[in-house]
Amino acid sequence: MLVSTLGGGVATLFIDGQWVPACGGRTREIRCPADGSLVAVVDEAGTADVDAAVTAASSSVGSGLWSNVPRAARAEVVERIGQILLRDRDELARAESADTGKRYAEAQQDVEDSAATFAYYAQLALRDPTRDVPTGRDGIRSQVLAEPVGVCALITPWNYPLLQASWKVAPALAAGNSIVLKPSELTPSTTVRLVAAVLEAGLPPGAVNLVLGAGALVGARLVEHPGVDMVSFTGGVQTGRAIMAAASATVKKIALELGGKNPNIVFADADLDAALDNALTAAFLDSGQVCSAGTRLLLDEQIGEEFVDELVRRTEQIRLGGPFDALAEAGPLISAAHRQKVAAYVATGIGEGARLRTGGVVPDHPDLAHGWYYRPTVLDSCRPGMRILAEESFGPVLTVERFVDEDEAVRRANDTVYGLAGAVWTGDEARADRVAGALRAGTVWINDYHPYVPAAEWGGVRQSGIGRELGPTGLGEYVELKHVWRNLHPAPSGWFPERAPRTGAPR
Ligand code: NAD
Repeated sequence: MLVSTLGGGVATLFIDGQWVPACGGRTREIRCPADGSLVAVVDEAGTADVDAAVTAASSSVGSGLWSNVPRAARAEVVERIGQILLRDRDELARAESADTGKRYAEAQQDVEDSAATFAYYAQLALRDPTRDVPTGRDGIRSQVLAEPVGVCALITPWNYPLLQASWKVAPALAAGNSIVLKPSELTPSTTVRLVAAVLEAGLPPGAVNLVLGAGALVGARLVEHPGVDMVSFTGGVQTGRAIMAAASATVKKIALELGGKNPNIVFADADLDAALDNALTAAFLDSGQVCSAGTRLLLDEQIGEEFVDELVRRTEQIRLGGPFDALAEAGPLISAAHRQKVAAYVATGIGEGARLRTGGVVPDHPDLAHGWYYRPTVLDSCRPGMRILAEESFGPVLTVERFVDEDEAVRRANDTVYGLAGAVWTGDEARADRVAGALRAGTVWINDYHPYVPAAEWGGVRQSGIGRELGPTGLGEYVELKHVWRNLHPAPSGWFPERAPRTGAPR
């Protein structure tokens, strides 16, 4: 049940067209990271619930109730989902803030971005991707058709729960698939509401299913389930590796959106005021719990010390607070365990020789005592080879390095197993193009940080993932192509002509 948001006592698993409690009767408390208050008690699925959800989704695929809906009608449903999200924006944002601790204004923006994703895919759903292929032969019609993959398991993280789910649900439904959603066990509330919105918009029962619970059990069962045709996952690289390995047993199609250790390169000829301001946003937005956060600041050595001094001064001014504190600029971390992990990374960095310029502590203000807050942290004098430069802390931790020239900037920026995003700040257009071209990343910003649009692909290279979300490619992930060759004038092929048997010839 979801206490605060759907009104007490409402079951929160959605399987085969019904809101149901977990077979095993287990529940989980969801607590707000900003103050530890109880947000909701939700049902905790077990493997039997997952199996039932996959069976329902498979039957829905078999029935064609969703996949055979004409293109225009399907687009209408997808569009309506976005409109419902916008209509319920404030309630959704409150639920998102309660689960994640993020600022209400940011959560409202997330709802708007989610709605925009549905609007975008509603438009794409109208396009018929069928391709006629020239064969050079008379009497032949050759076509490549795009069909839904089938049952898609969509597994999402806790940092942008509604948005990450929308990036998957919108294209998956637009392509005609049936889905089983599995949000992070820490932040299920807005995904429960998203499913309610999908139903209200008119999706047939069985085409959407929701299971809540721990990744190691519920998520893992989905990945290994032979009835699941595809897993689309957003989360950490270690989980991504485990999913890739588990999915190999059934040779499942997978799409992985994983972590990043993203470089933010500032050349001395850049607009340094803008670069400094954006370096703060890049690193500390949502307390650094952003996959594309610009956690590695690479500074041209010609930029004076005053740049870092000012960066530190402005970092110290960042005001922490709960979702509804109108003056707060950043919220808490998601959990006690996560805060410990972030603090351990900072300690590692200091142990490796990084210079702690600010942060590295839990704030001592009494208003923040019940939340998982951590002061935004700047570690200066970082050098290649340090673990703090290599691994994702996923917290408000900014490392600072210096480079002597463009070659070194690019070399250092690419010195990572990840490749999600990065930025370059320079007043030199040609250099901007060179560096953008040389960065090994799925997204590069020039003189900016963080913006994205639903029509442009999002995703990572190397260990930041496989595949893309958003854009036409994001729809393509949820499609299987089928080549249909039609002979309009069937005739014998002539390869093995009929003839009288020959005695003694080899057979
Ligand atoms: P996580 O990997 O711990 O969990 C993500 C989801 O996977 C959750 O729903 C979890 O329950 C589930 N899960 C865990 N173990 C599983 C298993 N063995 N099998 C199947 N499912 C399993 O990640 P998180 O801590 O929730 O999120 C933070 C991570 O997500 C960061 O690394 C961040 O960079 C990444 N992220 C990436 C993007 C992107 O677009 N590339 C966006 C947001 C977050």
